Amino acid sequence: MATPSKPFDNRDGTIWFDGKLVPWRDAHVHVLTHALHYASCVFEGERIYGGRIFKLREHSQRLIDSARILGFTIPWTLEQIEEASNATVRASGVADGYVRPLAWRGPEQMGVSAQLTKIHMAIAVWDDWKAYFTPEARAKGIRMSWAKWARPAPNTAPTAAKCSGLYMICTLSKHAAEAEGYADALMLDWRGQIAEATGANVFLGIGGELHTPKPDCFLDGITRRTVIDLARKRGIKVTERAIMPDELAATDEVFITGTAAEVTPVGEIGPHRYSVGPITRQMMQDYDEVVRRAPAEAAATAAA
Ligand code: PMP
Repeated sequence: MATPSKPFDNRDGTIWFDGKLVPWRDAHVHVLTHALHYASCVFEGERIYGGRIFKLREHSQRLIDSARILGFTIPWTLEQIEEASNATVRASGVADGYVRPLAWRGPEQMGVSAQLTKIHMAIAVWDDWKAYFTPEARAKGIRMSWAKWARPAPNTAPTAAKCSGLYMICTLSKHAAEAEGYADALMLDWRGQIAEATGANVFLGIGGELHTPKPDCFLDGITRRTVIDLARKRGIKVTERAIMPDELAATDEVFITGTAAEVTPVGEIGPHRYSVGPITRQMMQDYDEVVRRAPAEAAATAAA
């Protein structure tokens, strides 16, 4: 992963914070913020291509839905969140970069019960996180290890939400992979089925068709859904189903999808080796076209 050039609390620019654009270095929370202690926080990861946020509506809706799953309501409407996100991008001047909206329970109450906390929201934009994996790794396919942590069952954690608490096992798995020289880890779920990477969904190419795990205990990625649509438009059959790890032996190609990862080929998972196959290449190209076309289409619609 590309190393960011500057620490994230010491930068120029502005952050949208509870309704106002504030100087970047002033966007503070108190140490007794509920979210910091109890992970009562939800967030999004969005990309800006050509000055526009790709799939802003889907991401903003997922932020609202994630909060609802965690039992709180963001005090801003979908349209207000979209407008705030666009305003933050405009103020940043960033044409190609990353957007991080988040919403969390504040410091009004400390303890497991948090009924009296206020809900806060912030949006930050940056542009030095362009490649999630190195260009060399992307060209050859990334090397993945197996995670020792399993994605929990939907009655163990709010698995449909993009909530901070679920990322504990992602960071642990990613760190373990990196310590052994791998780019990422593939996580199984509580049943032993293939689930996802630590920040991306996974697709298997088998006999000219795509297979991907059903997102019943992990995030149904917006990139995942985009790629399923793109593949079907190409006439490639996509099946969402339970996939056991032993199927990797008879798999021709593998790639992962995510806002940050985009479409990234996988070259290695444990003992299995893959080259960058024709479906992976096609999906990389189609995804690239769709994200580059989106700003031009939006500009054309605005001008019409
Ligand atoms: N799974 C996890 C755990 C993630 O963090 C992400 C990135 N948000 C994804 C999947 C992919 O989601 P999306 O395509 O919406 O970015």
